This record gives sequence, C-alpha cells and structure tokens, in this order.
Amino acid sequence: MSAVEAAVSALQAGGLIHLPTETVYGLGARADDPEAVIKVFEAKGRPRFNPLIVHVADTALAERIGVFDDRALALAKAFWPGPLTLVVPVRDAGLACDLARAGLDSVALRMPAHAMALDILRDFGGGVVAPSANRSGRPSPTTQADAFEETGAFVQASPDGGDCPVGVESTVVSLLNEARYLRAGAVTRQQVEAVIGSLAADEVEGHRSPGRLTLHYAPDAPVKINIDMPSAGAAYLAFGPAAHAGPVIQLSAGRDLHEAAANLFRALREADRLKPSVIEIAPIPDEGIGEAINDRIRRAAGFVG
Ligand code: AMP
Ligand code: MG
Repeated sequence: MSAVEAAVSALQAGGLIHLPTETVYGLGARADDPEAVIKVFEAKGRPRFNPLIVHVADTALAERIGVFDDRALALAKAFWPGPLTLVVPVRDAGLACDLARAGLDSVALRMPAHAMALDILRDFGGGVVAPSANRSGRPSPTTQADAFEETGAFVQASPDGGDCPVGVESTVVSLLNEARYLRAGAVTRQQVEAVIGSLAADEVEGHRSPGRLTLHYAPDAPVKINIDMPSAGAAYLAFGPAAHAGPVIQLSAGRDLHEAAANLFRALREADRLKPSVIEIAPIPDEGIGEAINDRIRRAAGFVG
C-alpha cells in the first residue's frame, strides 16, 4: 500500500493521520464523524470550544459544506489551492459535524496547495479536519519528523510529504458579515483587500479565534522578541547577520521573510533542544508575511496581540 492509500484507508476507518500541507503538518480526521473528530481534540489536548478547519480537494466540495457568497467565491478563485481559510455559514452540517465546528453555525474551509494533501483529500472524497499536528500550545510541526514527535503515538498513518514550504498556519478570513482578517498568514491583508475591498477593523473574537489564545506556539524555554543584542546564555534566532557568543539559529541570513516563515517553527524547536535559559528572537519587519511571523512569536512569548 502506498503512503497515500494508507492515509485514505485510515481516514475511512475513522482514524487519525498526519496530513502534510504547504503551511504546517495537520492532524487529520474525517470531518463528518464525531467519533473520529473527538480523537483530534484528545490527541492534541485541545479545548473543545476551538473549531477546526475542514480541508477539501476542490471548491465544489467546499460549496456543498458551506455557503459561498460572491466574496467567498472570488477569494477561493484567487487563492485556492493555497494558504487561505474561509469562514462561511454552514450548508450541510452532516459533512462537517458539530464537534468540528465547535457547535457554531459557521464552518472554516481550505483547499491546500500540496500535491500529497490533495491526493489524499481527492481519494478520500470528503472533508478532513486538520489542525496543526502539535500538542495544544506547542510550536506547529513543519516536518514529518516533528509531527511524529508531537502526535505520532495517535496516528494510523504518517505520510512524509517533505518540509512545509510556507511554515506558518493559513490566513483565516471570516465572511460571516463584514469580512474580517482573523489570523495572519502567507496571504496578506493587502492581498485579500485587493480582491474583495477593505476589511473590517480587527477585533479579538474570543472563542471564535483559538489562534488568539495566549501562550500558543510556545517552546519550553521562555521566549523574548525584538532583541537586537542577545544576552549571554540565550539561544538567538537571527534575521540576518548577528554577533552572539552563544548559539545562533538563522531564520534567514539574507533577510527574506518567506524563508524566515518557513524556518520559524523548526528554529524554535531546534533552539529548545539546546535547553537555553531563554530563546531571544531578532526584530522581524511587520510587512507581508512578517505580520504572521510576528503574530506567532508574540504568542510564543506569551503576549496577547
Ligand atoms: P487551527 O486549526 O489551530 O489552525 O485553527 C483554526 C482557525 O480557524 C482558528 O484561528 C479559528 O479562529 C478559525 N476557525 C475555525 N472555524 C471557525 C469558525 N466556525 N468561525 C470562526 N473561526 C473559525
Ligand atoms: Mg495550531
């Protein structure tokens, strides 16, 4: 049996899989079966009030699960397959069960831009919930080895789809009333606005935005951000040339924000393995995908944005 076949049959049987995507590795289960979805919450130690993203192989299935207005259709056309999740009213709650939606009358949908993910989703044929494959609160896995270290004990299939090229979780845009940018990702606020016009002002939406919880994405060591001059004993995540007597892990020697995003979670894990007293991170420009990097590292440092 191929890796894709093994993943599909695990999904069909109501089991858990690792789902490699372009953003991070997901912990996947069929979205229509509460007994499968509950395993995701249990394996992650994730609070049940956090809704999950339902992954689909195409827009046609997305439109069977959720109600797509003109804005949703335009965004799907512009960015799918890709790192953009759309929150829309639910159409068929049987295809994305209550537990997957945390009881909400809305559903979050995404078509990933990853060949192996699309093979698995297409062959399975239904929606697949897949939050990041880390235990709740920890950095997301961006390699199969990291996914396996986090939740390997819970999955029936852990296909290796290579290292995740984007490295931070998808952008989340809500289209329930006014369009809102709920979570920053590789698809920037400006790119979304170029397609559907201006977005409503940000607002912390409490339980509707689990990515907004404090101390998310956190390694074991304390994290400090915006550090130009690392302190003795620190593991330093650099963005460009750095002078530090201790360990330096480069996010991007050439100060490329996309490269830094792809390296971010792996760098946090690598720093943690050194068991430093503190992990210090260089200032990251808050432009483009830099907004997503800053969002994640602020949360790793325990600040609410
Ligand atoms: P995660 O699965 O950890 O990548 O996070 C799921 C993201 O999707 C969170 O940021 C949620 O805010 C968002 N999300 C999922 N479902 C909904 C929903 N029905 N309404 C609003 N946001 C949602
Ligand atoms: Mg996550």
